[in-house]
Amino acid sequence: VVTVEHLSKSYGDLQVLSDISFSVREGEVLAIIGPSGSGKSTLLRAVTHLEPATGGSIAVCGTRILDGGVYADPATLRAALLKLGLVFQDFNLFPHFSVLRNITEAQVRVLRRGKDEARAVALALLDKMGLADKAAAYPCELSGGQKQRVSIARALALDPKVLLFDEPTSALDPELTGEILKVMRTLAAEKRTMVVVTHEMGFAREVADRAMLMDAGVIVEEGPARELIDNPRNERTRAFLKRFS
Ligand code: ATP
Ligand code: MG
Repeated sequence: VVTVEHLSKSYGDLQVLSDISFSVREGEVLAIIGPSGSGKSTLLRAVTHLEPATGGSIAVCGTRILDGGVYADPATLRAALLKLGLVFQDFNLFPHFSVLRNITEAQVRVLRRGKDEARAVALALLDKMGLADKAAAYPCELSGGQKQRVSIARALALDPKVLLFDEPTSALDPELTGEILKVMRTLAAEKRTMVVVTHEMGFAREVADRAMLMDAGVIVEEGPARELIDNPRNERTRAFLKRFS
């Protein structure tokens, strides 16, 4: 569903991504691991066009949105990017909107859904996230784990084909991390296509189908998640994983 070829990104003279190629298949969970500053967030932001790439190609659900460093026209780009749902480390909720409105807003504005339908979708997702009683609350009244569940519900409300998570648990206390990982396990069991940047090696090993290790803007190693984490072949992967054992 997502194919990335020879993707590159630089900030001025600083090359942050170099010749990145990978693909994500339907129903697959891909974990992206790697040290701080290796380019993991930049990669997700380049794929979702939050930070334009400087070279390479990207296809989303059969639509080429980047071709040899050139982006598709705005309408094509916008339609294809709607297939991608991004969940951030720091939740990115609108503080002045209720939980319900955080989830309905983009449905109404972007998908042009009617208010009643958007509300029904939001309430069903809140129920799924165990937050049925929080619809009227404001983000500041929620725990970090609850905020992150709202932001997952918000992403799901737009019916994305692929969910991309950038360290969804790293702003959370350990006991709240578990509740988010549980939600993500459920999504994986529903065969949702997911790309997850994470430092949770246990989660990556158990839930991801494939994993890739990034270091200094390149993919160092890629393979079945369990194999890569249990038996890394590359010296840099070994050195990185040692920190978690
Ligand atoms: P972490 O695990 O800490 O989140 P990361 O792998 O997500 O790290 P990135 O945030 O993608 O790393 O950053 C990769 C490199 O790009 C870093 O060297 C960073 O300093 C640089 N970088 C990121 N954003 C910008 C920016 N807006 N301007 C200039 N340099 C940037
Ligand atoms: Mg990051």
